[in-house]
Amino acid sequence: MKIDIFDLTSKRIINQPVDLCLEIDKLYDGYEYINFSKPIILKGNFSLVGDIINLNGRITTEFIIACSRCLEKFNYPIDIEIKEQFSRNKENEDADVILIESDKLDITDIIENNIYLALPFSRLCKEDCKGLCQQCGSDLNHTTCSCQDLSVDLRLAKLKDLFSEN
Ligand SMILES: [Zn+2]
Ligand SMILES: [Zn+2]
Repeated sequence: MKIDIFDLTSKRIINQPVDLCLEIDKLYDGYEYINFSKPIILKGNFSLVGDIINLNGRITTEFIIACSRCLEKFNYPIDIEIKEQFSRNKENEDADVILIESDKLDITDIIENNIYLALPFSRLCKEDCKGLCQQCGSDLNHTTCSCQDLSVDLRLAKLKDLFSEN
């Protein structure tokens, strides 16, 4: 989606509200595709300071990710602040200012980048998710299996062997 910022770059106005809804199916996070369960909402404001355009606003959306322990899918809401600076003047180029070539701003790219940075590093359905049994694959949040008892029994049996050798 492109936003026309001609009024700002031509200094006809110094403020332009932005309120948009973007439908993106999925986002590639470097490992896998993440599906969105809600559209992306951006609400904010463009403001012109000198020849720099500031974007301040909030991005809200929700997506579906898989728990890294039990693999169960869960909804993950996102509500983040967005702060960006743009300029058509090359003299303003620095790490914080995005140089733009035209009066049409590709907002999809900018939104995706911000969401990408907000993706959680640890993806757990709940803090104390018990995960899957490493032996039988049962989801230990919903069921119990006898694998653990078995491995304890095996360890005990080995210990008994050790003691009996001495
Ligand atoms: Zn889980
Ligand atoms: Zn098991």
